Amino acid sequence: MKSHKDFTCMDCKKDTWNEYYMLYSRVWKKANPKMKGKLCISCVEARLGRKLTKKDFTILLVNTEKITRSARLKDRLAN
Ligand SMILES: [Zn+2]
Repeated sequence: MKSHKDFTCMDCKKDTWNEYYMLYSRVWKKANPKMKGKLCISCVEARLGRKLTKKDFTILLVNTEKITRSARLKDRLAN
């Protein structure tokens, strides 16, 4: 399978293709002050020091069911 270069997590270098999500900018800025780049769920949570909940995600993508999501992304969105 082709790797998705632009979706590589900055911290663990894993492919985050199936973890495409949008956090509210205040949450994202806290985890990633530079704002640029991609982070997988566990690295965002490690940086924030807590688990993400659906309140951290923008409504737009929470309601978009066409996107393939990893199990843990679904789990966070269900909280
Ligand atoms: Zn990561």
